[in-house]
Amino acid sequence: MQKILVWFRRDLRLNDNPALHAAKQAQLIPVYIHAPDQDAPWQAGGASNWWLHHSLHALASQLKAAGSRLIIRRGDAREVLHQLIEETGAEAVFVSRLYDPASIARDTNIKTTLTQQGITYRSFAGALLFEPWQILTKTNSPYKVFTPFWQTCQKSGLPSDVTPGIRSLPAVSTRISSQRLEDLHLLPTLPWDTQFYDHWQPGEAGAQSRLRRFIKEHLSEYEDARDFPAQGATSALSPHLHFGEISPRQVVYAIEHALNTSTAPGVRKQAQGFLRELVWREFTHHILYHFPHTTHKPLNPRFENFPWQTRRNKVLRQWQQGQTGFPIIDAGMRELWATGSMHNRVRMIVASLLTKNLGMHWLLGAKWFWDTLVDADLAQNSFNWQWVAGCGADAAPYFRIFNPVTQSEKFDADGIYIRRWVPELSRLPNKYLHAPWLAPAEELHSAGVVIGKNYPAPMCDLKHTREEALLAYKQHTRAAD
Ligand SMILES: Cc1cc2nc3c(=O)[nH]c(=O)nc-3n(C[C@H](O)[C@H](O)[C@H](O)COP(=O)(O)OP(=O)(O)OC[C@H]3O[C@@H](n4cnc5c(N)ncnc54)[C@H](O)[C@@H]3O)c2cc1C
Repeated sequence: MQKILVWFRRDLRLNDNPALHAAKQAQLIPVYIHAPDQDAPWQAGGASNWWLHHSLHALASQLKAAGSRLIIRRGDAREVLHQLIEETGAEAVFVSRLYDPASIARDTNIKTTLTQQGITYRSFAGALLFEPWQILTKTNSPYKVFTPFWQTCQKSGLPSDVTPGIRSLPAVSTRISSQRLEDLHLLPTLPWDTQFYDHWQPGEAGAQSRLRRFIKEHLSEYEDARDFPAQGATSALSPHLHFGEISPRQVVYAIEHALNTSTAPGVRKQAQGFLRELVWREFTHHILYHFPHTTHKPLNPRFENFPWQTRRNKVLRQWQQGQTGFPIIDAGMRELWATGSMHNRVRMIVASLLTKNLGMHWLLGAKWFWDTLVDADLAQNSFNWQWVAGCGADAAPYFRIFNPVTQSEKFDADGIYIRRWVPELSRLPNKYLHAPWLAPAEELHSAGVVIGKNYPAPMCDLKHTREEALLAYKQHTRAAD
């Protein structure tokens, strides 16, 4: 029987995993190789490593239940594969394709050397709905604007064909050694992750249960509720999608199934809004594939030398620690630190404050998110930071500057989200909660708030910094034209 190494990367699931499915008739050996240096400079951050640890644990348990065993090794991926091929006599390596620049470079190199040695290397599509070379404009170039991209995806039909799951697998010889998951040292040494356990269940079972719960409880209100951070009406599938514990095809399949059976009024419109977000994910991955420099440079070359600041460490720290004096911003940054996630609307508001009012480089924000988000994803993170900063694909125009006070009044009018994460303001009436520095002294006093003492004064003047940002933009674009 043919021996095949199935090299798991960001496809940590047994269901709808085409690489695993294609190898299932063979004597397959599931492998995970830990090689963080090969992702440099974007090796996984602390929150992602937390997730990875638990996700690998879940995968190993599933493989064990199916009769197999996950072989964990660390080291240069090419060398480890060679070693495993020698040890096992494997004739082929099967993988799910990845599309970020470092993975493409590594995989191309591995494919070339394995092929030269007569080892079969096969890659399968499993992470996206469409391959990045499938969705192109009429002139065969990549889309840079979302709406026509979305329309083309819709015309093609969002794929929902899923490959069957795997229930049983051949045993892996005990002669093949594996490192212990603990030896990868993925968990933090200081216990900053305690709340993560209340929010997340990494692994395929956790992904499926999130999807089921979302469809049951929130799909029928998604489009109307998704912008309100206190409502928890979004799917929370992003880390599961990032680690490939669920495929986007499985998500589309489940939504279509729900639509075929649901009688809830207007559910189709709500579901359409959700699928549109899933296609935003797709768009960001296609953009990164076609424009790999966008991990560190703006897609829009006019912004190449934009004078964003890179050195104001104190300002950056205040923002990171949720001590800006703007309640909605501080709530978001503290939610991020505590849970490894932040609501999308609030991500946009905090990113706008950092890049526009505070004039800081979008990469500084992207790097902080990279280290603290459990769903940190190179395509989605780079794209969205550039979108907010105004220098990316289909970007919010530079002059669109989110006002944290009006955004807060609109999307957290009752202050539920702010009170959850900024308890020192919890006794302020809603009227003053969004801009506490404007509250009359007696209101502050009776709520126990002392601005500048137990809650910071706002770190910048919103009106003045907005004008400064607009001026910087005007001067820069005039010089660039
Ligand atoms: C500055 C900034 C940085 C971001 N960084 C990341 C990141 O590193 N990783 C990440 O997965 N998302 C990122 N996002 C996008 C978005 O905030 C998250 O995908 C979303 O909050 C995840 O929550 P959810 O799964 O409940 O989303 P839902 O609302 O349930 O959406 C379903 C899925 O669609 C995708 N999606 C939703 N919104 C977006 C979007 N704006 N762009 C791309 N895909 C989207 C996600 O995969 C999500 O799981 C970022 C957004 C901003 C503004």
